[in-house]
Amino acid sequence: MCRAYYGRHGPFGCAPAIFGDESGPSFYDGPVARTYEIRTHGCQMNEHDSERIAGLLEADGLLPAGPGTPADVVVLNTCCIRENADNKLYGTLGHLKSVKAAQPGMEIVVAGCLAQKDRDGVRERAPYVDVVLGTHNVGRVAELLSESRRSGPLTEVLDAAVIDDHALFPTALPAVRDVAYLAWVTIQIGCDNSCAFCIVPSVRGEEMSKPFGELVAEVEALAADGVTEVTLLGQNVNSYGRDLTLAMRADDAGHHDHVAVAGPGWNSGERRARPLFADLLRAVGAVDGIRRVRFTSPHPKDLRPDTILAMADTPEVCEHLHLPLQSGSDSVLSAMRRGYTADRYLERLRDARAGVADLAVTTDIIIGFPGETEADFEATLALAAEAEYDGAYTFIYSPRTGTEAAAWSDKFVDHAVAVARMDRLRAVIERSMTRRYADRVGRIEEVQIEGPSKKDPSRLTGRTRQNKLVHFASRGPIRSGSYATIEVTGSGLSHMLGELVEVTHQATHRTRIPVSAI
Ligand code: SF4
Repeated sequence: MCRAYYGRHGPFGCAPAIFGDESGPSFYDGPVARTYEIRTHGCQMNEHDSERIAGLLEADGLLPAGPGTPADVVVLNTCCIRENADNKLYGTLGHLKSVKAAQPGMEIVVAGCLAQKDRDGVRERAPYVDVVLGTHNVGRVAELLSESRRSGPLTEVLDAAVIDDHALFPTALPAVRDVAYLAWVTIQIGCDNSCAFCIVPSVRGEEMSKPFGELVAEVEALAADGVTEVTLLGQNVNSYGRDLTLAMRADDAGHHDHVAVAGPGWNSGERRARPLFADLLRAVGAVDGIRRVRFTSPHPKDLRPDTILAMADTPEVCEHLHLPLQSGSDSVLSAMRRGYTADRYLERLRDARAGVADLAVTTDIIIGFPGETEADFEATLALAAEAEYDGAYTFIYSPRTGTEAAAWSDKFVDHAVAVARMDRLRAVIERSMTRRYADRVGRIEEVQIEGPSKKDPSRLTGRTRQNKLVHFASRGPIRSGSYATIEVTGSGLSHMLGELVEVTHQATHRTRIPVSAI
């Protein structure tokens, strides 16, 4: 994924690791309705995992804890990408230790990337944690809690996802979504790239795609529940299906399943043995009830013309592309092992803008990667200015123990220098953002209503197809999830103001829906 960034790159080996402590007591025996709370850190992938954890816990009879009410089960879904993630986790665990001491029967679960990476560390430093589980066995959360009640605290971290049985694919789990009309759909987990700053390949494993037919069926089920917008999630969505080809060829390994791979909605003809991401975009866009399709993130080196064509000819696919740059310097890109040059990136960007009318483009940029010189940084500045981004996530490089780049301490950029560069980059990004938002003034835009504006509750906020926020006055309430047209009357750095023209589609979702992904 190109929006998740720094971290460890060391594999843990291949065998599943299960470490149990058989001595602990069983805390919970009764049928009293218990409650749960999930605290999520990190990217959309973690947020989606949290939805699945919520779905599994609710399927097991737990209820969400009310605001301000202590939960019986607290799940920390961790991320090892953010700076000081370890310290923050152990700080939170220290606090939960005293809460648990005062609340017998409370259970603590640590899940996510940090648990995957530091499995033994969590157990050693916080032995009162009931369950430590990794990124590949989220689906076992309820079973592991149950096991820990019987036999005491346990750690179960798998080194790879289970690939032999599609039913065990990590997205094939019940989910509870906070927002009923939007859904993330994980199309792929893991990453086969090896960016020098990134933890993802070591904590999420090799790329593994969910079969095409199952994904289309999952989106059909979501649409039947009133979901109108889906975001297809993957570390490198453009390479969706590459592993399916390999699996289909491996007949003798038992992975061959043309029906599951092809599924409904994909007519490959005779030319290809497997679906491309472009096929998936078209098939998901064609699902009855789906009005918007988004995706994140494509890798610039793998952005193919067929994806751009599918974006252009599938009306449901929104005019927004998040295309992570990371650096505009060829030598830094090479050190990062990104697999493209600045020229190649710009060529892909030009192709996308030429192919998809009215395309908004956002990006990620890392400043101060080890060895970045002033000339390297100026190349990034120049590229950012040329790219005219609609927005950017910008980060100062910070080493993460175990990543390849973290070992290059002799090349670390002085922090004050990096901060100054960041200020200069932000000025460039903000210039193009301001222009791109101002360009919308006078247009009629379709928005999906999100609810009252956070800053001014007398207004409503909606999101355009380009993923831009518009705040506007409404004569009456409009249900969240509905669609309306807005005339844009003003703009700021990262929002627009507008006047309601008309409501074009009333939301039909139930207020909160449990979803069983297929
Ligand atoms: S290693 Fe994979 S997930 Fe990490 S930044 Fe590179 S492409 Fe994205």
